[in-house]
Amino acid sequence: MKAIYETKGRAREYCELAINLYTGCSHNCIYCYGAAVTHQDKERWGQNPQPRKGIIVQIQRDAERYSKLNEKRPILMCFVTDPYQPVDDTHRLARKAILILKAYDLRVVILTKAGIRAQRDWDLLDKRDAFCFALTRCLVLCLSELPILLPSPTFTNHLHQPYLVGCPHLHQLFFC
Ligand code: SF4
Repeated sequence: MKAIYETKGRAREYCELAINLYTGCSHNCIYCYGAAVTHQDKERWGQNPQPRKGIIVQIQRDAERYSKLNEKRPILMCFVTDPYQPVDDTHRLARKAILILKAYDLRVVILTKAGIRAQRDWDLLDKRDAFCFALTRCLVLCLSELPILLPSPTFTNHLHQPYLVGCPHLHQLFFC
């Protein structure tokens, strides 16, 4: 099993490397394609997500390998699950994974809909990393190198401003 994998198709437009930490996602968004792409039952997908077997050990192995290859591309967590869904309160895989990636000087992109729960690991991020806060139709990218995208000014009214302002990597805001 690879923990860090090369993405395919349209996903590559966003990030060429990614990690999926959990077997499902309890956010259970109605439009989620996670169950389909992982060949799981949609009903079960959101009910009892668990850590992928051996994921942290494999992240360690893969991070070492990518580091030796002098990898500079960012690694996204996660396309097919949410790193900060409630189960992560127990397992803290997101933090463990970030710690490993940073130990190997690899770049991280966090993609989550978990709101302020995701704030707890900002202390591990640096200016080469990114934090993406996604709502149903809203994507926010907080990074020195990437813009922040929102679908309309209406959405800004729903965003928790201290949450955004507190991001150490928040440099630009773009509304579209
Ligand atoms: S947050 Fe993402 S992975 Fe989780 S259910 Fe929603 S679309 Fe799927």
